[in-house]
Amino acid sequence: MSDLRELYQEVIFDHNRHPRNFGKLVNANRHSEGFNPLCGDSLDLYLIVDNNRIIDIKFEGQGCAISTASASLMTEVLKGKTLQEAEQLFEGFHQMVTTGETPSIDLGKLSVLAGVSEFPARVKCASLSWHTLNAALHNSTQPVTTE
Ligand code: ZN
Repeated sequence: MSDLRELYQEVIFDHNRHPRNFGKLVNANRHSEGFNPLCGDSLDLYLIVDNNRIIDIKFEGQGCAISTASASLMTEVLKGKTLQEAEQLFEGFHQMVTTGETPSIDLGKLSVLAGVSEFPARVKCASLSWHTLNAALHNSTQPVTTE
């Protein structure tokens, strides 16, 4: 278990140091902003959604290692997924980080963030990008805040 935990931590550090899909999407047709005032994390999420599918997704922002790694992992996993699949991943991820339970759907590499459930203050860091995604997909124009 401790080996697995170390591996998970390495993946998180790697995504924090080298975030995937980082930057602005100039031709995005969905965009949302999210803030986690408790930790000071903020992010902008850009998506191109076409025919019910996430064609492209990028993010920009500043935050702690957990929020950056979570956003990076999320964009990697969601690219090419349908909106229904994205919704299921959101629910599964939320269940994992808030309860520590293994969700019924396979979260793939998102599972590296399972340990966050032991640190309630970090749950908001890990789920900020997902709440921001939810707002972008539901065309909410209000900035998202975890508070
Ligand atoms: Zn944070």
